[in-house]
Amino acid sequence: MTRIDTLRRHMDPMEAVNLRFERAADLNGVEESTRAVLRMPAAELRVEVPLRRDDGSLEVYVGYRVQHNSARGPYKGGIRYHAAADIAEVRALASLMTWKTAVVDVPFGGAKGGIAVDPSDMSRAEKERMTRSYTRAIAAIIGDHRDIPAPDINTDAQTMAWIVDEYAQMNGWTPGVVTGKPIPVGGSYGRESATGRGCVVVAEQALAQEGRSPAGVTMAIQGFGNVGSWTARIAHERGFRVVAVGDEHGTVYAAAGLDIPALAEHRDRHGTIHGMEGPEALDAAAVLSLPVDVLVPAAIGDVIHCDNVDEVQASVIVEGANHPVTPWADAALTERGVTIVPDILANAGGVLTSYFEWVQNLQQFRWDEADVVDRLTARMISAYGQVSRLASERGVGLRDAAYTLAVAKVAEASALRGAV
Ligand code: NAD
Repeated sequence: MTRIDTLRRHMDPMEAVNLRFERAADLNGVEESTRAVLRMPAAELRVEVPLRRDDGSLEVYVGYRVQHNSARGPYKGGIRYHAAADIAEVRALASLMTWKTAVVDVPFGGAKGGIAVDPSDMSRAEKERMTRSYTRAIAAIIGDHRDIPAPDINTDAQTMAWIVDEYAQMNGWTPGVVTGKPIPVGGSYGRESATGRGCVVVAEQALAQEGRSPAGVTMAIQGFGNVGSWTARIAHERGFRVVAVGDEHGTVYAAAGLDIPALAEHRDRHGTIHGMEGPEALDAAAVLSLPVDVLVPAAIGDVIHCDNVDEVQASVIVEGANHPVTPWADAALTERGVTIVPDILANAGGVLTSYFEWVQNLQQFRWDEADVVDRLTARMISAYGQVSRLASERGVGLRDAAYTLAVAKVAEASALRGAV
């Protein structure tokens, strides 16, 4: 099979991440023995998650926690509740976390968790019971110096509060066991908006390299959950013209720019971005193919692929979601000269601020919001600078450069600890 054929067929998500890892390992001259360790997760736990529904019936879901690598510190990574959260997906996301924590130089490894479930029809009480059930199932392998979960798709600060409470009942008060908590139970100011803020910071850096400022730059965002909505709000404040926001039900579009605060208020009041007076309603796929300067896929994986990549018109793509662009589409966009800020850099603002939250928990000391925002911004700018300098030095794209930086750090830590 040629390289083109390999890229074009559907890839297991871990295979796609490892394709990028192997390229970086080649660029770093990493030995085969070290690669063998870094290619595979260190541990995978599959658990049953029983849930008593409100009507008295019992459902049993399957949950996972995959720990990829801890050479640089405790395992770290989110928990998602999503129907497509199978072992292959969670494994790939755990590996991405290993590289992401290394790119932004936080002292963590990589992990990910999930339950294969669509929680959209669950009551709050059902979500709480399911979260507590899952927490009991993985409690033995998490901990503030062991493995530290955080929010991801369909989980939020409230979910983290239930986890910290369930864990506390078994082990005593340990706020650092999860990050992304609500402020009153040990959360950090600035954590909720952090991933979106980081996406905006790197978008500005990418534009600055082309000599452009955000004023009037058009942006389309797929997803209006945690990452998408905060990207939209902060981009809007910073002068970008956010013209489109989409989700699985459709795209909301206004060529003159959406009123993002009004859209966020509408979503909070009605539970959806749709149905607001003013903007045009387009189909769900439209958000990816509009004539904009910057596209931020901030929903799910593999949304830009071989069948729709030719429709993408943006010249800058900021990967708010994890692996939103397949390797095939990545190669095609790169060939067209599109700048892609890769997930392991673009959405790392979340784990960076999770690190700040964890530090505050360990110190039992709270930083104010301006302090968190300043530190986040400075470190995202610095990480972008390092990646982009390496990209120019080596004559590669930002993704290869980010992986190269990350793989070198993890391989060095593994060698120093004697793990390989
Ligand atoms: P979320 O559950 O808060 O929001 C997900 C959004 O995606 C929602 O608006 C939903 O309507 C939309 N969506 C779901 N399925 C879709 C589909 N098929 N087509 C279009 N839109 C769809 O999740 P989130 O926390 O914002 O995470 C979004 C992405 O960002 C994920 O890939 C996640 O792994 C990644 N991420 C999240 C964080 C974080 O701090 N939450 C950090 C780094 C990366």
